[in-house]
Amino acid sequence: MKQVIPQRVAILGSTGSIGTSTLDVLARHPGRFEVYALTAATQVDLLAQQCLKFEPRLAVMASAAHANRLATLLKEAGSGTEVRGGPQALVDVAAHEEVDTVMAAIVGAAGLGSCLAAARAGKRLLLANKEALVVGGEFFLQAVRTGGATLLPIDSEHSAIFQSLPDDPATWQQRVDKIILTASGGPFRTRDPRTLRDVTPDQACDHPNWVMGRKISVDSATMMNKALEVIEARYLFGLPPERLEVVIHPQSVIHSMVQYSDHSVVAQLGTPDMRVPIAYGLSWPERMASGATALDFRTLAAMTFEPLDAPGHAERYAGIHLAWEALRSPAGTTAVLNAANEVAVEAFLARRIRFDQIHAVNLRTLEAISPAAPGSLDDLLALDSHSRAAAGQSVASLSH
Ligand code: NAD
Ligand code: MG
Repeated sequence: MKQVIPQRVAILGSTGSIGTSTLDVLARHPGRFEVYALTAATQVDLLAQQCLKFEPRLAVMASAAHANRLATLLKEAGSGTEVRGGPQALVDVAAHEEVDTVMAAIVGAAGLGSCLAAARAGKRLLLANKEALVVGGEFFLQAVRTGGATLLPIDSEHSAIFQSLPDDPATWQQRVDKIILTASGGPFRTRDPRTLRDVTPDQACDHPNWVMGRKISVDSATMMNKALEVIEARYLFGLPPERLEVVIHPQSVIHSMVQYSDHSVVAQLGTPDMRVPIAYGLSWPERMASGATALDFRTLAAMTFEPLDAPGHAERYAGIHLAWEALRSPAGTTAVLNAANEVAVEAFLARRIRFDQIHAVNLRTLEAISPAAPGSLDDLLALDSHSRAAAGQSVASLSH
């Protein structure tokens, strides 16, 4: 009988929305995967439960204090999982020689260091953490190439594009006319734009189709998520910015499309469930069960589309246009935009600025910082922190 050696998987950010969905998929295929390491920032109790269920060799908390609490809980429960703490432990686990596959599901630029470590160590890298690519850009891609890593997109749009493109990347430039990303339009697509100033954090996080972490939910409401995804697509697929388009598709059934040079369009469809792209990343180039419900075309009433310039959308989704602007600006500008947006979203969630002021913070930060092309991780981290400081000043000046 053929013996299957399980793929050893490390999940960075296992307590989040993508992290828990990944564990759900892995639990369906026990012989094929081994959960080798789990990591989290602050949710000690949830990580402890996950460790007791999946029995990883390693568990990492972002801080030593949280790691100590986790170690105590696991010791009391008689668990054999080794606990480590701190940012270096996170980087080490991403590059661990016994790990085959890294699911990068930390939110924000905080995931950059561990993503780079996994890339340099030549891992199969399942990238949910789009911010790492938006911040790292070409520098990150270079690490993927020199490390010999296999980069597989987890973002549903990019997984859809990857599934719709030909197998050989060398043919993409010539055969593909354009990539069309779909956007749901978020919770405020039909809301009077004059009332956006009154939006609360809970309203912004109440996405019509997807259940996600709070940061990406706010980004979906402002459409900054799609801006980050346009930048992500630029780096992942190499087409110039003018060949990347966005169309609003409120039902989130078509996850994105590729238009070829003969104007044939290939799309990927499915129910909005992140377990589909996660299972695809884990099993590629094969397929395996994801746990998602199948689409039912007998009950699927309609698929509709709206352009970005439909009435009111210029005010609702001002942020989307920053993607192309940042891509046409000097290298590093996408990192400035990402940092500004992280600070602005955090300030909005903490009720320090209004929803409609997120865009103002992003614009002001882009105006304040002129980046030099980043040549190292230290350059990127410095640019990220300068941009955060500038965005923090904007927030302070706007705070009510
Ligand atoms: P989430 O907030 O639900 O989870 C984030 C995870 O990251 C948690 O496990 C948390 O402990 C960890 N984390 C946060 N800050 C950290 C830090 N400083 N150091 C170490 N760990 C830290 O977020 P999510 O919705 O699962 O999103 C994760 C990533 O996947 C994001 O980059 C997001 O854009 C992307 N993504 C998410 C979805 C989705 O449906 N949720 C879809 C596409 C892409
Ligand atoms: Mg997405």
